[in-house]
Amino acid sequence: MAQDLSEFRSEVRDWINANLPGSIKGDLSAQMAGAMGEREQDGDALLWRQRLAEAGYGAPTWPREYGGAGLSQPEARALAQELDAAGAVNPIPAMAGMGVTMVGPTVLEYGTDAQKAKHLPGIASGEVRWCLGLSEPNAGSDLASLTTKAEDDGDAWVLNGQKIWTSGADRSQWCGALVRTDSNAKKRDGISFVMLEMDQEGVETRPIRLIAGASPFCETYFNDARAEKDDLLGRRNDGWSVVKRLLQHERQSQTGARGGGGATGPTIQEMAKTYVGEEADGRLADPDLRSRLASLLMAEKAHGLTAARIVAEARGNPKVSAAASILKNSATMVAQTRAELTIEMMGNQGLGWEGDSFNDTELATVRNWLSGKAMSIYGGSFEVQKNIIAKNILGLPETTQKG
Ligand SMILES: Cc1cc2nc3c(=O)[nH]c(=O)nc-3n(C[C@H](O)[C@H](O)[C@H](O)COP(=O)(O)OP(=O)(O)OC[C@H]3O[C@@H](n4cnc5c(N)ncnc54)[C@H](O)[C@@H]3O)c2cc1C
Repeated sequence: MAQDLSEFRSEVRDWINANLPGSIKGDLSAQMAGAMGEREQDGDALLWRQRLAEAGYGAPTWPREYGGAGLSQPEARALAQELDAAGAVNPIPAMAGMGVTMVGPTVLEYGTDAQKAKHLPGIASGEVRWCLGLSEPNAGSDLASLTTKAEDDGDAWVLNGQKIWTSGADRSQWCGALVRTDSNAKKRDGISFVMLEMDQEGVETRPIRLIAGASPFCETYFNDARAEKDDLLGRRNDGWSVVKRLLQHERQSQTGARGGGGATGPTIQEMAKTYVGEEADGRLADPDLRSRLASLLMAEKAHGLTAARIVAEARGNPKVSAAASILKNSATMVAQTRAELTIEMMGNQGLGWEGDSFNDTELATVRNWLSGKAMSIYGGSFEVQKNIIAKNILGLPETTQKG
């Protein structure tokens, strides 16, 4: 039976009214100020983040003893909806980097009690930002080919090697890294997952500058970097199981279909009519675009209904599984098609990067289209998700990864 959340919702509304500073209510960028780590958080943005953390709302489904609020998933969804309705946003997941969505849930599953007590509260409060050092120059889709080594010198794990595309490495305090701990074992059997501090002599980060000027990720070098002996997550040489789970959490967090323009902006149908015009009967003037737009809206609906069905079948508490690969791919497909169609209907106005002849929506659309390209790469590429679906859901034989 569905949980009655009306009492919970009313408590949350009261809590938001009492705790969200009036000066930043409705101003999402003020509430997110400092959240991306480009500067220190201060003023009312800091106060709001601290109050969310005290209530356990940074990672609301985690146990209270580790900084969460012990909420069920339906309650956490209701909390997010109430925040949204009140013009409030929770900056903690962004502040924690890979912490709330990926590292934390994996520590909850694989960590010792001591590791949970050490790492989770800092993530749930947004005070400790995490990055993930998985990919290497010769180990992306074929992640098990990684060569970064960790050796036990008696006192600590000593890491040597290079990671790449490490999102936020230059702004993170901690890193979860996948390392080789047994070079003689079969490639997936000699890997471990280790957690280490970034602020140490043996770690160097070099931001990778993209064409648009931003540097969302880095090359990360480990030169005798040190990790504490008890910061190995899961068993030694069982890092492959740990990272498979972590990646499922990552894909799960990427399964929401991203819309264009935000909840308050014009719909894509309204935008199409603005740019392309309409016929006397109100239909979109371009019949080909009309039919492709209808296909997109149907695909979005199907994606949303499938995601809702998975939640309903699991009575509100879906378990993370290989099915996340299906939703990640459909979310990617829907988001990229929407961005392509929007650019196309804007014509020349969809080609601007800066300047007075383009409005804010047009400039944002171009950036959204470009940044959306990464969706089919990060968290495991589109093709690799198809391989996972073929093998782990459809039961087809392994043909792509040997060893
Ligand atoms: C924005 C962004 C952020 C990222 N953040 C991080 C991060 O924080 N930490 C981290 O460790 N990594 C991160 N990555 C790296 C990401 O995980 C890898 O880029 C991804 O796994 C693909 O690896 P690759 O780039 O080496 O491409 P490759 O593995 O070289 O793949 C190239 C192409 O070949 C295809 N291909 C490869 N193998 C197969 C196969 N078996 N079957 C079918 N097709 C195949 C792929 O689909 C792809 O199209 C990030 C990437 C992006 C774009």
